[in-house]
Amino acid sequence: MLDISTPVDKQVEWLARQQAAYLITYPSNLEALLLWCRERQIRLPTLSRAQTLSEVLHPRVRALCREVWGFGVDDMYSCQETGYIALQCPDHEHYHVQSENLMVEILDAEGQPCAPGKMGRVVLSDLHNFAMPLIRYDIGDFAEFGGPCGCGRGLPVLRNIMGRVRGMLTLADGSRIRPDFGGPHFREVADIRQYQVIQKSLERLEVKLVAPHGLSAGEERALRQMILAQLGHPFEIEFSFHDDIPRSAGGKFEDFRSEI
Ligand SMILES: [Zn+2]
Repeated sequence: MLDISTPVDKQVEWLARQQAAYLITYPSNLEALLLWCRERQIRLPTLSRAQTLSEVLHPRVRALCREVWGFGVDDMYSCQETGYIALQCPDHEHYHVQSENLMVEILDAEGQPCAPGKMGRVVLSDLHNFAMPLIRYDIGDFAEFGGPCGCGRGLPVLRNIMGRVRGMLTLADGSRIRPDFGGPHFREVADIRQYQVIQKSLERLEVKLVAPHGLSAGEERALRQMILAQLGHPFEIEFSFHDDIPRSAGGKFEDFRSEI
């Protein structure tokens, strides 16, 4: 095991030295490794699998892994309190609920079960925790059920697992939405390695960027337009530039957080 805060170049050296066969890490860290390796055309020939946990895995990271290292990513949905919640189907990119160990409910704002395809709150009850059972524990994530899986496993299917409630953007009228800033497309505007959006007030967002070559005035304008168009709500956007954007105290990387 290697500390998650180890610089990317040292991680790559370590993986090569270990002749690692597989890698388990956070999606944000995997993406940083893949970008590093793509730039330097590093292949890590012994590595044949990547598994991710703890953060939402964006499809762009799966695609990047196939492109750079030639294999896909197996994602695991878990939490500290109950362990594994759902594991990626070996044949598909959705997840099978680990129903032998816990019950997963997806509930709407009124506490009613959501039909497959409708996003709701993830509520867990674990079945083997006799010391401190968690009954209908609202973990703060959003997800949706999918239809039965063609692989033959009868376990319920989860698809579209979304991040935490704390990642909600508050609009001027007080309502809250899950923001979509169009982050995967930032790289179409400029060489942007990492970003984090922070809501500073009801009107103002700070967009922190790691962009080694900076942004020209035109690129800044294009990025601002892209974010506002994607978001669909008027905000003042202020960019700030950083060498690195640190992880939160628990070691996870958050691409959005609100300070209000
Ligand atoms: Zn399946």
